[in-house]
Amino acid sequence: MAYLQLDNIQKSFGDTHVIKGVNLEIDKGEFIVFVGPSGCGKSTLLRLIAGLESITSGRLLLDGKDITHTPSGKRDLAMVFQSYALYPHMSVFDNMSFALKLAGVSKDVIKSKVDYAAKTLNLTQYLARTPKELSGGQRQRVAIGRAIVRAPKVFLFDEPLSNLDAALRGNTRVEIHKLHRALGATSIYVTHDQVEAMTLADRVVVLRDGLIEQVGTPMELYDRPANQFVAQFIGMPS
Ligand code: ADP
Ligand code: MG
Repeated sequence: MAYLQLDNIQKSFGDTHVIKGVNLEIDKGEFIVFVGPSGCGKSTLLRLIAGLESITSGRLLLDGKDITHTPSGKRDLAMVFQSYALYPHMSVFDNMSFALKLAGVSKDVIKSKVDYAAKTLNLTQYLARTPKELSGGQRQRVAIGRAIVRAPKVFLFDEPLSNLDAALRGNTRVEIHKLHRALGATSIYVTHDQVEAMTLADRVVVLRDGLIEQVGTPMELYDRPANQFVAQFIGMPS
């Protein structure tokens, strides 16, 4: 049985039909990348999975449980956004521990979880700083740290590297992949960058205009693109 199952998911905003029936089965531990041109519905699909938007029709199952109508906070998923969305007036430690504090987790447990995340992300020496005292790459790592401390079943990344310069993007990409493996996580990663998609993904999902064009390993997409759209998109320089 699939770990995360999208069963004919559709989403409309008013009269605008944005996600037009997406079926997808994701296994535990997979690193899935959604790619496709701007406006094809990548972020919307991720937000539907996260519970940040309501699903118009279809079903979403996580680990055998129907979570279609489960509130975002109870889905056991954590999302990392492209804009860092850190609390500017709080220290790195407080930014990373905020969700745990809200959940009533004890101080000792919070400290050990934040310390672990900080060590993993090379942030230990920055825990007392505020976001404005950090570089872009460090801020993005804090955003990832906030997701890690919650030890979610599924990580959702929406273009997490797009605000970083090229060198940092490469490093952070490698770090994200290592973390995914180390935590035994299941990850869905949205990007419009084909290189990111092809280097990170176990399987790539190519989206176009609210529908899946093709799902496959990077090699399968290179070797046997289903159509001209996929071939052009995968072959396009980023
Ligand atoms: P992508 O992330 O692939 O660039 P999005 O998921 O952000 O695409 O958007 C897909 C389409 O849905 C776009 O046409 C966008 O304008 C529309 N859309 C997204 N969010 C909303 C919203 N809250 N209200 C109305 N339209 C939206
Ligand atoms: Mg987007």
